[in-house]
Amino acid sequence: MLEVPIEKFRDAKREQIQELVHDSIIVPDDLQDNVFVTTLDNVYNWSRKASIWPLLFGLACCAIEMIATAASRWDLARFGMEVMRPSPRQADLMIVSGTVTKKMVPAIVRIYDQMAEPRYVMAMGACATGGGPFKEGYNVVSGIDTYIPVDVYVPGCPPTPEALIFGLLKLQQKVERQSITKVAWYRKGSSEAVPIPVLGADIFDPRQVQLIQSVTLSGGGGTKGDGESARRSVTPVPLSPEAKAKVRAAKAKAMAARQPA
Ligand code: SF4
Repeated sequence: MLEVPIEKFRDAKREQIQELVHDSIIVPDDLQDNVFVTTLDNVYNWSRKASIWPLLFGLACCAIEMIATAASRWDLARFGMEVMRPSPRQADLMIVSGTVTKKMVPAIVRIYDQMAEPRYVMAMGACATGGGPFKEGYNVVSGIDTYIPVDVYVPGCPPTPEALIFGLLKLQQKVERQSITKVAWYRKGSSEAVPIPVLGADIFDPRQVQLIQSVTLSGGGGTKGDGESARRSVTPVPLSPEAKAKVRAAKAKAMAARQPA
């Protein structure tokens, strides 16, 4: 087998670079002002970052600010992002703006799955980022990033159109830093299964729901029980007459304290 020393490769590489740096590439006069040399990454990222098509996912009040960003005063078209459609087709960016309810999560995740790579997600506002004022609500998730990967978070309740534009510029910077040789969408492998939201308090990881269920249904013992003891332990116990009297007295006292003197 022919062995070629590594130095020879280095020399060949150096020569190629010299060719590019110096004027050994002959460019015709009429093309002198129209030719430049750059990397494939630069061209790839420049074209992508300047034509990000958002998939709008307006869920609550934040959506009004997002809509305003696309209107004439802020004019998102300046960044090549004016093609805002409620469709995953040809979309590059999903903007999740508003309160994410548990009922809506499966729809958001399904549409995210329907988007082609490369795709990005922006969590717009306190609700989409972490539950916002409804955090710990029985029907609201504590941030969409538990279910789909978020690239940029835009804080605020609601964020202003300027804040959204700042987030979009940050996304452009992120796109600029990517390399075609390393991006995930040209790699093999499957992604993690999407967790299903469960009703009730959500201060836990839904991906651990099986474990939590087995622990709670076994009465805290850590092994799966038949569920009967768990059902017995969560059956509401009526208050005794003494306890009811105490509650009534406390309520009356509180009402009396609120009365103006
Ligand atoms: S973050 Fe504030 S403005 Fe945005 S959806 Fe939630 S409550 Fe509404």
